[in-house]
Amino acid sequence: MGLYLRPRTIEEAVAALAAHELTVLAGGTDFYPARVGRALDDDVLDVTAIDGLRGITVAGEHWRIGAATTWRDIIDADLPPLFDGLKLAAREVGGAQIQNTGTIAGNLCNASPAADGAPVLLTLDAAVVLQRAGASRTVPVGDFIRGNRRTALQAGEIMTAITVPQRTTRIASHFLKLGARRYLVISIAMAAGAIEVDDAGRITAARLAIGACSEVARRLPDLEQALIGLSIDSALAQRVRAAHFAPLAPVDDVRGSAGYRIDAAETLTRRLLSVLAGRITGAPA
Ligand SMILES: Cc1cc2nc3c(=O)[nH]c(=O)nc-3n(C[C@H](O)[C@H](O)[C@H](O)COP(=O)(O)OP(=O)(O)OC[C@H]3O[C@@H](n4cnc5c(N)ncnc54)[C@H](O)[C@@H]3O)c2cc1C
Repeated sequence: MGLYLRPRTIEEAVAALAAHELTVLAGGTDFYPARVGRALDDDVLDVTAIDGLRGITVAGEHWRIGAATTWRDIIDADLPPLFDGLKLAAREVGGAQIQNTGTIAGNLCNASPAADGAPVLLTLDAAVVLQRAGASRTVPVGDFIRGNRRTALQAGEIMTAITVPQRTTRIASHFLKLGARRYLVISIAMAAGAIEVDDAGRITAARLAIGACSEVARRLPDLEQALIGLSIDSALAQRVRAAHFAPLAPVDDVRGSAGYRIDAAETLTRRLLSVLAGRITGAPA
């Protein structure tokens, strides 16, 4: 390995990034597997000792998830139902060792089409905070992930947090993942969703997203729109139509054919809607 820096503050980190060409290292669970079989010659900025980069807090009207927050931190945190889907996704990322060290920012910055964090963060209207020396900007997750392994992160920038708007409405959120086996597996398809209802039990907002069925996770705007105003008791799953999945562009690969992935996405979405309705009404899905 070349240079190895492990700053204690964000200011030191961004100053180092401005001065050197450095690869950011968090949990290393994507970084190291990408370098198997070759010399480790990157100059590295390790972010795991930076004060305030880890943990979940409330900041004004938003929740703030520090970039170095691990999947285990998310599983263990005391959070409202808004985050049920994110907690379920956290439990699906690899196994216990990966969850103990892998971070939410690493998952987004690595920008794999199969990143389990991406679809659920889309359904939370999450944004990422990107800091450079002297400036910071906030970018919606949907704009941050640009393609397979492509993000909006620029040279000299570090992700410091993920922000999620607080909600005061009745809300349910959920996440479902399909892999070739139940645990420790890369996704073939994922469905994430958050549904908000008014006091009369009518849907006022629906955000649904599918992962691993396109280069980047995609929302389903036509289905979201079709759900607005419906009673949460109505058979929501029956509203799902093949046309709602038009935003997806799955690939054929070793894990599944494009046709199989679309089928899986539809089935997961139906199940997801049944679970979400059950969460709000208290009825079993
Ligand atoms: C055995 C195994 C199983 C896995 N299973 C899954 C799975 O089921 N689902 C899944 O989604 N993923 C899985 N992964 C991938 C990985 O664990 C996750 O993507 C994890 O969240 C990555 O986080 P990390 O902190 O380890 O990232 P790192 O490896 O440290 O970094 C990943 C990338 O993000 C960049 N980066 C990290 N933090 C920042 C920051 N703050 N600012 C700017 N850039 C940053 C790094 O430069 C690097 O390019 C698995 C990995 C392994 C090894």
